[in-house]
Amino acid sequence: MTHGHQLRLYNSLGRRVQDFVPSAEPAGMYSCGPTVYAFPHLGNMRAYVFADTVRRALRWKAIRVRHVVNITDVGHAVADTDTGEDKLEVAAARERRSVREIAEFYTRAFFDDIRALNILPADEYPRASAYVPQMIDFAATLEQKGYTYRLPSGLYFDTAQDPRYGELAQLDPEGQREAARLEQVPGRRRKTDFALWRAEQPGQRRVMRWDSPWGWGAPGWHLECSVMSIALLGPHFDIHTGGVDHRELHHVNEIAQSEAYLGDGLPWVRFWLHNEFLQLGAAKMAKSAGGAPRLADLTEAGYHPMAFRLFLLGGHYRSQLDFTTEAMDAAQATLRRLVARVQPLRPLPEADTLGAATAAAATAAAATGAARALDLMDAAIAADLSTPKILAVLQDALRDPAIAPDGLRVLAAAADALLGLSLGSLDPADLEHRRSVTELAPEELHAIEHLVAERTQARKERDWTRADQIRAELDQRGVQLTDTPEGPVWRLR
Ligand SMILES: [Zn+2]
Repeated sequence: MTHGHQLRLYNSLGRRVQDFVPSAEPAGMYSCGPTVYAFPHLGNMRAYVFADTVRRALRWKAIRVRHVVNITDVGHAVADTDTGEDKLEVAAARERRSVREIAEFYTRAFFDDIRALNILPADEYPRASAYVPQMIDFAATLEQKGYTYRLPSGLYFDTAQDPRYGELAQLDPEGQREAARLEQVPGRRRKTDFALWRAEQPGQRRVMRWDSPWGWGAPGWHLECSVMSIALLGPHFDIHTGGVDHRELHHVNEIAQSEAYLGDGLPWVRFWLHNEFLQLGAAKMAKSAGGAPRLADLTEAGYHPMAFRLFLLGGHYRSQLDFTTEAMDAAQATLRRLVARVQPLRPLPEADTLGAATAAAATAAAATGAARALDLMDAAIAADLSTPKILAVLQDALRDPAIAPDGLRVLAAAADALLGLSLGSLDPADLEHRRSVTELAPEELHAIEHLVAERTQARKERDWTRADQIRAELDQRGVQLTDTPEGPVWRLR
């Protein structure tokens, strides 16, 4: 039995590809999660599909993992600054709902997208608001150790106390915050110093407020990730993931405060993994509320969530991706071809780990061609998660007459385990491109609605002949009509 290729991951700490061997099992893994004040957009989802790829690679290598993803429902100020209003509170005022309602609504929206994208659930999804007493204790410890100073605006971490501050960002601390943040905080000693506690200002009263040794207020944004990861994974753990935008500031500050708090001289986390951006600029997708497109906009426009997943995995996580309608069309077409080819091979065997896939390949008679392709897939995932390569290997294999159906079954199952595209279960009919209602000309939309209303009237009058005629006409226009207790519902084919 082969042990396969050594898993190697690009560590932002030191900027190099390194062998990944867990320091303990289960390996601890923490991913910075959503701030639940708005719908997650497609760019946000790239970070979770990326973390899911890490999870699948570890499972493939039979490395058990304990995964924590936080839900930020307090403490994240507008524009990521240290002062100013909280994102949740601004959203609550805008939508005339309570902060709790806002958090619950958008947390549910996040989980809907996670499920639709076939992302493996984390072991824990701690909410920041449930950990505020621990955050206060953490900040108090830092104060006792002399890492902080007080200002009227709150308690600040003194980055001058940390000789290794900013190592992850590989920027000189003086230049670090220049580009992104131009916030002036009166009395702050260095511009890299950041708030551990944001004190309420005279005349201000936050909606979410806690009493603390530094007065009423709310925790700083960076604090929650250190506190919750240490609480749930122990003082040191193996992997921390997030978008590359976190590499220069949020993660730098997480490291500074955690290593000051632990004070054992060890690196807090061994592997820092960051995914690149998804560029949304050029896309002309139907946009629900004028913001960046989200998954629901894609499905409304006729794309399957798995097509978006395939689009993401078609690029390497450390490369920027441009989101375009053409790229989505191509991804959906690729997925349709893959599912059509895999469908006759169902059911697929269980092959979530390399060991299981290798055993299945060994028992699959005449699957000699599959062994080589399986090795290529293993090499690809081991080489810093090369998902585009896995897709290419699968596509080549499905065209290779030398590989028997039993071998193809193993390879499709292996690809599903690593890429999570659900090739073994997707219904090809769900992948037919549906025209979106938003693509209809106004006259056509009007005509359809008129016909639907006319048919409802005809049915009321028990004029079945007329009702059937109208249904046939709607059918010709590509309208699929379903009668429900609440009345007819229609969509385009
Ligand atoms: Zn974080």
